[in-house]
Amino acid sequence: MSARLAVEDLAFGYGERTVGASVGFAVGVGEVLCLLGPNGSGKTTLFKTILGLLPPRGGRIRVDGEDAGGWTPRRRALAFGYVPQAGAGQFSFSVSEMVLMGRTAHRGPFTAPAELDHAAATAALDRLGIAHLAERDWLRISGGERQLALIARALAQAPRVLVLDEPTASLDFGNQVRVLEQVRRLADEDGLAVVFSTHHPEQAFAIADRVALLHNGRLARLGSPDEVITAAMMREVYGTEVDVLTVGDGGMRVCLPRTLRRGA
Ligand code: ADP
Repeated sequence: MSARLAVEDLAFGYGERTVGASVGFAVGVGEVLCLLGPNGSGKTTLFKTILGLLPPRGGRIRVDGEDAGGWTPRRRALAFGYVPQAGAGQFSFSVSEMVLMGRTAHRGPFTAPAELDHAAATAALDRLGIAHLAERDWLRISGGERQLALIARALAQAPRVLVLDEPTASLDFGNQVRVLEQVRRLADEDGLAVVFSTHHPEQAFAIADRVALLHNGRLARLGSPDEVITAAMMREVYGTEVDVLTVGDGGMRVCLPRTLRRGA
């Protein structure tokens, strides 16, 4: 069986400028892949290329074995759900209106939403546990609520692949946990292939099946969180000394920076 999402020997960049090359990985149905990498390593550029917002400079993207190269924006929108970092946005819409916009690819831009679209939006809000926010003004909900609503919008699209760009950035601790729980659930229960980026290795330990580590536009490591997130890697890529410790009965792993420890 082919992977749901396959990134094959991908080169990506802007205009004449190549940002990354030789990047390849696959994400299966119900699998969560965490993309780690220092600032400027090319994560956002890679995401834009996967989503078809930038043309690949080499290689290809496949969804269920099919080359997405020649796809129309509408076809892409039916395959890929994208969750950007939660900014406030400029427009005053209700939460349910924002989520309905996720249905545009299903009905075309100039057609009024049908009952089916409303039902999909309502189901998505429900799925994320935020049905009570439906009529609230987008600009007057919290950052955590907005992030869950952006995930609901992507979900209403009924995508096969979900791409999330630092979904927990700027969220408080409780909301980070809630967003990560939902992301894992969408893979487990809805069979989505999920790719998300983060600056926190703990999040990979918590919910990722595999980790892709991008460094200077190259795939420096690809493997299980335990294989990729090691003291040696953290030193080499981030220039920090950490201990990777096992805590609790479940064998959860955490990275503890040595220099921040009191009395170290
Ligand atoms: P990350 O998301 O890992 O922080 P980016 O993909 O944003 O990394 O950036 C990778 C490289 O691409 C950086 O050197 C950055 O300066 C460059 N870059 C980002 N956006 C553009 C752009 N619009 N045009 C040209 N270069 C860009």
